[in-house]
Amino acid sequence: MSYRALFLDRDGTINKDPGYIKDPSEVELLPFVGEGLLKIKERLNFKAVVISNQSGISRGLMTHEDVLAVNNRINTLLLMNGTSVDAFYYCPYHPDYDDLSKTICRKPNTYMVELAAAEMGISLKDSVFIGDKATDIECGFRSGLKTILVNDISGEEFLHLKKINILPNFVAVNFESATDYILKEFNGVF
Ligand SMILES: [Mg+2]
Repeated sequence: MSYRALFLDRDGTINKDPGYIKDPSEVELLPFVGEGLLKIKERLNFKAVVISNQSGISRGLMTHEDVLAVNNRINTLLLMNGTSVDAFYYCPYHPDYDDLSKTICRKPNTYMVELAAAEMGISLKDSVFIGDKATDIECGFRSGLKTILVNDISGEEFLHLKKINILPNFVAVNFESATDYILKEFNGVF
């Protein structure tokens, strides 16, 4: 038995992104994330998996404990909507601070997605990656996932994707629009 999954970027996709967020009391979910995740998990039986770069750790701006505290806060807030993230994966490294061998986990590399798929029994070709940055879409594309960019179609992230010729399956103005697309496109049998 394999699962389908919604792979999610964290900062800027699930929660507001003030930059290197480390204080759980500052976590604020973006509109419709709780409702959307609940619908997708309940109606499609998807797993929800966060795939996040957290180089603030290597930069000395935060600790592993800070990342875990923010992750826990996200799930506390999501539970108020009756849903939650099933697993959080993050990469603490950055090429400016760490050996390149360590930074293999960083998006846009596929390492964390493949690790999650192996650990959780996820079928990648039937799953989707949603994120607000070009690196999210590149990671999802390279992992064989459907991809959704939640961002401005005239913004620099989309322009960069056009430049490298990796286009998302859908560009959503917000999480609600992304949710509607997923419910429509994934509601069938593959
Ligand atoms: Mg982001």
